[in-house]
Amino acid sequence: MSRNDQLFERASRTIPGGVNSPVRAFRSVGGTPRFIQRAHGPYVWDADDTRYIDYVGSWGPAILGHAHPEIVRVVQEAAVHGLSFGAPTEGEIEIAEVIAARLPSIEKVRLVSSGTEATMSAIRLARGHTGRNKIIKFEGCYHGHADSLLVKAGSGMLTFGNPTSSGVPEEFIRHTLVLNYNDLASVEAAFATHGDDIACIIVEPIAGNMNLVKPAAGFLEGLRTLCTRHGALLIFDEVMTGFRVGPQGVQGLTGITPDLTTLAKVIGGGMPVGAFGGRADIMDNVAPLGGVYQAGTLSGNPVAVAAGLATLELLAKPGFYEFLSRQSATLANGLTERARAAGVSFCADHVGGMFGLYFRDAVPTTLDEAADSDIETFKRFFHAMLDKGVYLAPSAFEAGFVSAAHDDAVIQETLDAAEQVFAQLKG
Ligand SMILES: *Cc1c(COP(=O)(O)O)cnc(C)c1O
Repeated sequence: MSRNDQLFERASRTIPGGVNSPVRAFRSVGGTPRFIQRAHGPYVWDADDTRYIDYVGSWGPAILGHAHPEIVRVVQEAAVHGLSFGAPTEGEIEIAEVIAARLPSIEKVRLVSSGTEATMSAIRLARGHTGRNKIIKFEGCYHGHADSLLVKAGSGMLTFGNPTSSGVPEEFIRHTLVLNYNDLASVEAAFATHGDDIACIIVEPIAGNMNLVKPAAGFLEGLRTLCTRHGALLIFDEVMTGFRVGPQGVQGLTGITPDLTTLAKVIGGGMPVGAFGGRADIMDNVAPLGGVYQAGTLSGNPVAVAAGLATLELLAKPGFYEFLSRQSATLANGLTERARAAGVSFCADHVGGMFGLYFRDAVPTTLDEAADSDIETFKRFFHAMLDKGVYLAPSAFEAGFVSAAHDDAVIQETLDAAEQVFAQLKG
């Protein structure tokens, strides 16, 4: 029995499913999850001391590579001065100023400790600000696990959805309209029917939780126009894409200004930090200025903020995103070439430091297309790559991530492994 197997068995006795977040359990690919004992640069080492090139990057935060010496240094320094005060600090001002300076849509911002908290708070704020109840979300977009967001489409368009989790009463999701990503006509129809009670649209402006799915031409512009016309707020959930796809997230790539933005993952540099921010007149509805309650014992935690600030500083180095984009492109294109050469139905896409791998012939533009992939072949690919020391997301519906530590040699090693694996898949 490997040490991973032993740990998984032991973990499963006192932790449900052996994990503290479900996708880690390898349920959708089968096999034993790797228990990580340490990580450095582009690599993680499991409990059996096997090294893997890591394309999960803690699901996004590890954009500088693991245990970056500068981040480790500032975390150690901050820790010496106290772990948490429950009182304001100068670091919180600095990170708020950096975020507001980098993202022009954000005039004021509040820190929380996770993406879930950020989206939950942003939606409460949108409802409080507009005095309306309903929200629009898109199937396949993930916005954390707040009750009103754990919902999938109902049987007919514009009917209210069904909970995707037990424990969520129907009443809690009665106000959530679930529409299809990249289907602007359905959004128009929703506004035509419910327009004066729609508080907001929340959207992953590039979707990374149904594999990587980019917005169709005109989709985000259309959402912006409809929200403005009907007095609803547009929330860009950039928890994954913020500071990941480019220096100003998707809003910088597209020039579209959301009313509110949610952030997490990269802005914590591996520590628990989330944020929601936007126009000052909206943000001023948050307590203690306004009537929308929102709070957190560990919000703005000094150690986490130090890691976040140092990360954001390093991301501002000239050429950072050019390098990241080049590495993702080399990986995505290299994998596609090798799959095609081996006769495997496969394609890939990328943006900034994010990529999608699809076991189908064309890059998907909808959830249905993303779901219509050869999952069995993906599973075999995943395990064969793992055997060769490459750690990909253990699910066919997650985006992958490269970091600044994924240099040319690391990408080449990955492509060499994939070449053998694709040949194996076909054989
Ligand atoms: C990861 C993610 C979340 C949830 O963030 P947590 O920190 O896991 O709570 C929300 N929205 C998007 C787009 C995400 O990718």
